[in-house]
Amino acid sequence: MQVLRNKGFDKSKWMQLPRDVLVGHDVLGQIPQVCEDLSLGESVLVVTGKRTLEVAGGRVVSMLSDSYTTRTFLAEEISPAMIGKAEAEAREVDFLVAVGGGKIIDTAKVASFNTDRQFISVPTAASHDGIASASASVPTPEGNLSLQTQPPVAIVADTGVIASAPHRLLASGCADIISNESAVLDWELSHRLKGEPISEYASTLSRITAQFMMRNADLVKPNREETAWMVTKALVASGVAMSIAGSSRPASGAEHKFSHALDRIAPGKGLHGEKCGVGTIITLFLHGGDWRGIRDSLRKIGAPTTPTELGIDDATAVEGLLLAATIRPERFTILDMGLSRESAESLIRMLYKE
Ligand SMILES: [Zn+2]
Repeated sequence: MQVLRNKGFDKSKWMQLPRDVLVGHDVLGQIPQVCEDLSLGESVLVVTGKRTLEVAGGRVVSMLSDSYTTRTFLAEEISPAMIGKAEAEAREVDFLVAVGGGKIIDTAKVASFNTDRQFISVPTAASHDGIASASASVPTPEGNLSLQTQPPVAIVADTGVIASAPHRLLASGCADIISNESAVLDWELSHRLKGEPISEYASTLSRITAQFMMRNADLVKPNREETAWMVTKALVASGVAMSIAGSSRPASGAEHKFSHALDRIAPGKGLHGEKCGVGTIITLFLHGGDWRGIRDSLRKIGAPTTPTELGIDDATAVEGLLLAATIRPERFTILDMGLSRESAESLIRMLYKE
């Protein structure tokens, strides 16, 4: 058969998606079957932390030890040096299982990518959409490095474990999902103004996930498996949207730049999703969107809605906005539409005095 090649058509795309996704009650116990199903090899490195070892990592290690040569690596923080150590351990095994929060999952994600091994994501909290995506954020002295690596080959999200985590983490994850609304508006703006290619599938999936979260904000309650179930599925959908796009664009715009800016100028204040949530209120206002709707949803969920609630003052929020506009300049956002110090100051004053 002759292969037809149409003149002028030269598109091609490589999408990497997770293969097995398990979300639900006590799915932790199914990790050995998942490993077997995926035929990942004979030896495994479990990357976890001191606390998450107690919560779930220890159980995963003991289950896997029955069938696999199992090593454990404790990643207490995320840094280039810690990732280097994890890579050295990863080279001794066939695949990795990351049991923990975002930092532990990102450490295993980068280490597995750099050593050409697969990894399974076992989140112990639903704190951000990195649990299901190919993107990783690594702090360096020069600021946060956003890396595009590989998505997990499988996600095993036990709703019992996730519901037991502090509610603040889950509320932060909800805010990270809601921030997709702002990211998609930025992407569309860049598409219209700069001709940046846009994926309608990815942007639609990302946006409906944000809107689903806003619609269901009333159902977000502390320490309930139903809530963990709803939020985790939304985080997975958000990760899939990024996999379809082949970048973090559907879930990361000006509000994420604001969060990264605060990482630099106010380290230790607020969680990733919390900062993105506050950023989304600001950027939705600039886009002429329903910023009050975003604010009210975040309030219901129990996520911060003001700089004060993030633990920073208004002046720091203004600096954060101005710095945000300089981060990753190739990613065009609403902040590139002429934000000045005066406009940033009056914006923060007006939004938060209402
Ligand atoms: Zn995020």
